[in-house]
Amino acid sequence: MSFQVEGKIAVVTGGSSGIGLAVVEILVAEGARVAWCGRNPERLAQSKDYILEKFPQADIFVQPCNVLDKEDVERFAQQVNAAFGGIDLLINNAGQGRVSNFENTQDEDWIKEIELKYFSVLYPVKAFLPQLKCSQHASITNVNSLLALQPEPHMIATSSARAALLNLTHSLAHEFSQFHIRVNSILLGMVESAQWKRRYQERTDRDISWEDWTANIAKKRGIPMRRLGKPEEPAHALVFLASPLASYTTGATIDVSGGFNKHL
Ligand code: NDP
Repeated sequence: MSFQVEGKIAVVTGGSSGIGLAVVEILVAEGARVAWCGRNPERLAQSKDYILEKFPQADIFVQPCNVLDKEDVERFAQQVNAAFGGIDLLINNAGQGRVSNFENTQDEDWIKEIELKYFSVLYPVKAFLPQLKCSQHASITNVNSLLALQPEPHMIATSSARAALLNLTHSLAHEFSQFHIRVNSILLGMVESAQWKRRYQERTDRDISWEDWTANIAKKRGIPMRRLGKPEEPAHALVFLASPLASYTTGATIDVSGGFNKHL
């Protein structure tokens, strides 16, 4: 069964690597027209080349944009509108986590983390809302973390900001029902991607392989599936929620954590 996104127009924030790029790839493979952004122009150009090499006919629009810069996001929304004439699916994926506990989180770190988790969603939602309101199949899908429901002391600021984002996603789902815009999110556990690759580069044991290092993390954390997720695994869940296949689902979450969730 296809995701029924052929011809739909999708925007993926943070589409230049990891989970975002996996989402872009699935959407393009399914025949969607896809715009994506990231801050680093070089990484963005590489992601564009990667997609065009695999899908030479892809109808894509790629533009550097910092989702925390309101004017940048508004400009990106105008450019996407000019390129595609509207959008159907907004996938808010851009971001990163912060590793720190209460003792070593400064006041400005709290503010930065809350700004990242809130405004990386609020600015794109505001900027693309007029276009989404015109779509017959509109959806907003946010990448969130299991930390929203299951906080970890070593990621204290990220955990609490993630909880706020979950709450906000629920409110948006209810408010936007009147516009026929569905709003959902996924709750991630640990997924192999650039964030983890960076942490691997900084490892103390220089001899350990990536496979053993990630398997050790999964074991130490007690992930029942005994491995980290692959970027395409959350990407499939995101595309499903964004697609017309989830047409009666709003205000919902899909857990993509390899069974790491401890709640019922
Ligand atoms: P990556 O670092 O591989 O990808 C992050 C993407 O977001 C990149 O394209 C990056 O590009 C972009 N990005 C980051 N900040 C901004 C910004 N301010 N404006 C525009 N683009 C931005 O990470 P993942 O694929 O792992 O993460 C994707 C999402 O999933 C993130 O929100 C992350 O917090 C979340 N997540 C990931 C988990 C994991 O285990 N991997 C766990 C829980 C949540 P650039 O740097 O060039 O801007």
